[in-house]
Amino acid sequence: MENLENRIAENIKKVRERIAGAAGRAGRDASEITLVAVSKTKPVSVIEAAYRAGERVFGENRVQELSEKFPVLPNDIAWHMIGHLQTNKVKHVLGKAVLIHSLDNIRLAQTIQEEAQKRDLLCQVLLEVNVAGEDSKFGLPPQGVEEFVRQIAKFDRIRVKGLMTVAPFTEKPEENRKYFRQMKRLAVDISGKNIDNVSMEVLSMGMTGDFEVAVEEGATMVRVGTGIFGERGYH
Ligand SMILES: *Cc1c(COP(=O)(O)O)cnc(C)c1O
Repeated sequence: MENLENRIAENIKKVRERIAGAAGRAGRDASEITLVAVSKTKPVSVIEAAYRAGERVFGENRVQELSEKFPVLPNDIAWHMIGHLQTNKVKHVLGKAVLIHSLDNIRLAQTIQEEAQKRDLLCQVLLEVNVAGEDSKFGLPPQGVEEFVRQIAKFDRIRVKGLMTVAPFTEKPEENRKYFRQMKRLAVDISGKNIDNVSMEVLSMGMTGDFEVAVEEGATMVRVGTGIFGERGYH
């Protein structure tokens, strides 16, 4: 465990250095970028090691796992729901995740609105965009985002904070630069429309394989799992 603890601390340090390097190349300040440590499939003991190394923002993609980890880990952790969310699971996510990265349909928005109303909460979300139009991925088509934002703006319990994308899997991060650039442009366009209850301050993009390119292109949030915790057994 001690070795693992050191390795995780070292990995976090390296990832943060790489974020700072990429930010520097783009003339940005590293403090603009939030690192989300993606802890899906990892046990509580491993998350505790990352916590002791100073990490406070963790991402999970399954409601069941989030529900198990949430009550047993320190309450100053900011949990993010980064995975696809089904409407029947919404009630288990509200009050736990501070940010849902994956809103991409009206039915889900309606359910979040009703549940948040019932519990007198506000729910912060990102809109997931399928930027490369991959059949295997969730998310809105880029050309449908503005119309969707206008519909969501009517839900007074939902605060849109920005956009999220899972770019195509590739061994060559440069291949995703065009998609990250397109996401940034989309966020700027929508921001310019000044829609009520909608901000575009968060751009969640970039994973272990491509987060530096994402930061160079304007990511304000990167989601890194493997680069911190090592390979996952499944998912
Ligand atoms: C698993 C996952 C990540 C992290 O992926 P790595 O390649 O391990 O960094 C990021 N975002 C989402 C939505 C994920 O499901």
